[in-house]
Amino acid sequence: MHIVNLDKYEFILLDIDGVILDQCFDNIFWSKLVPREVAIKCGISLDKAKIKVQEMGEELSGTLPWYEISYWEEFFGIDLIACARRNSSLINFLPNAEFALKKISKLKAEVIYLTNCDARLLQVKSESVPFLKYCSSFQSSTDLRLVKEDDSYWPLIYKKFKINPSKSIFLDDNKKIINTAKSSGLSAAYHVLEPTSDGSVIYRRDNVNSLCRLSDLLKTNS
Ligand SMILES: [Mg+2]
Repeated sequence: MHIVNLDKYEFILLDIDGVILDQCFDNIFWSKLVPREVAIKCGISLDKAKIKVQEMGEELSGTLPWYEISYWEEFFGIDLIACARRNSSLINFLPNAEFALKKISKLKAEVIYLTNCDARLLQVKSESVPFLKYCSSFQSSTDLRLVKEDDSYWPLIYKKFKINPSKSIFLDDNKKIINTAKSSGLSAAYHVLEPTSDGSVIYRRDNVNSLCRLSDLLKTNS
């Protein structure tokens, strides 16, 4: 197990979905709720709509349109923010995430959330779950017009928030993003292996630093 001394970092950079919030919401949103909207709008079966959404998702994976709600709304002629609001009771903290955030926000380091989540969807999430009060700033990639998977994202973020990457620790549940962050000079990047509360997604521990959950950051620090 890695011993993380959080006191040596000036910046704690956190992904939101799968690190702070339960990824189950997004999984249900894209696998069930969006296809249902598409099925109704296009007059096709739910199974056909699921395939359509899945195929489009695979084609766009990791790009800005994939994360951008308005892209999907315009493509299918549906209102996905209204859909998210109707189902906002499914938006939740991951187990122990709020407890961990309370502790992390009391450290001397600046806490900044870096998310690819669409700014409009993030608004719905933050109205349902009070996670924004534990950070000093946050950035949605749809506002920045660059995603975390893009090499040019990181220098821009360092400049915008005056972040020293050699004094920063970053957590994300996407390993590709962890590797991109590391190549940009970020000193410590941890892959979060359990992004869902129900264990429906568990990533394999491999050659990058990893933690099961955000709250483990504090366990290893004690
Ligand atoms: Mg994530």
